[in-house]
Amino acid sequence: MVKRVLLKLSGEVLAGSKSFGLDLEAIHSICEEIAEVARTGVEIAMVVGGGNMLRGRDVQTMGIERAQADSMGMLATVINALALQDVLEKLGVPTRVQTAIEMRQLAEPYIRRKAIRHLEKGRIVIFAGGTGSPYFSTDTAAALRAAEVDADCLLKATKVDGIYSADPEKNPDAVLLHKITYMEALKQQLEIMDAAAFSLCMENRIPIVVLNVLKKGNLHNFLVDGKKIGTIVS
Ligand code: UDP
Repeated sequence: MVKRVLLKLSGEVLAGSKSFGLDLEAIHSICEEIAEVARTGVEIAMVVGGGNMLRGRDVQTMGIERAQADSMGMLATVINALALQDVLEKLGVPTRVQTAIEMRQLAEPYIRRKAIRHLEKGRIVIFAGGTGSPYFSTDTAAALRAAEVDADCLLKATKVDGIYSADPEKNPDAVLLHKITYMEALKQQLEIMDAAAFSLCMENRIPIVVLNVLKKGNLHNFLVDGKKIGTIVS
């Protein structure tokens, strides 16, 4: 069983079948899986994305300055975090949201040692606001927080089964890779996370696990039963 995991949920996963915004049905079913794993005693920290609402780069192309656009993107992640918190708490799991940018009326500010204390007490900690700085992604925030809370792995929850040797939609010979090294991933130019996130994980030897969070039982099977699912980069 994994003791402590950093789970990265992208905005895309929270949008479910929609192309924009929140799909509460999808969020509910993912939260049920997360809550079930939390009840087994796995400590869960989460970093949530915001791409279902706003990506800094997209807003920049509309004529808004990049740093400003990124601030808007970071706020989008807070909206997602609050939605996740509500759904998880209704499922009976204690949670705390910590934001990288202070908004004390809504959530705690990010304090590393406090986050670890929450995890030890069995609370799910949802990190929002990314790193708190523009020009970064929530993947980088996930790698950073994984290192800071000393997570055993960074689990990138996706809609696909893992990392393939090539794009399976374009190449019929593409195969699912179960285990690869950081170096192999770099050499093969497999786009798992952006370069900043990837190098943080590699430098701090944090295994990256890519798995399909939409398949029921996947989180439990990997985190609790230790089954080999998805792709592990280590
Ligand atoms: N963002 C940022 N700094 C961070 C993390 C995120 O400025 O440390 C902004 C950036 O504009 C990004 C947006 O927040 O596009 C939403 O995050 P991301 O695109 O990583 O979300 P995801 O793709 O995971 O849904």
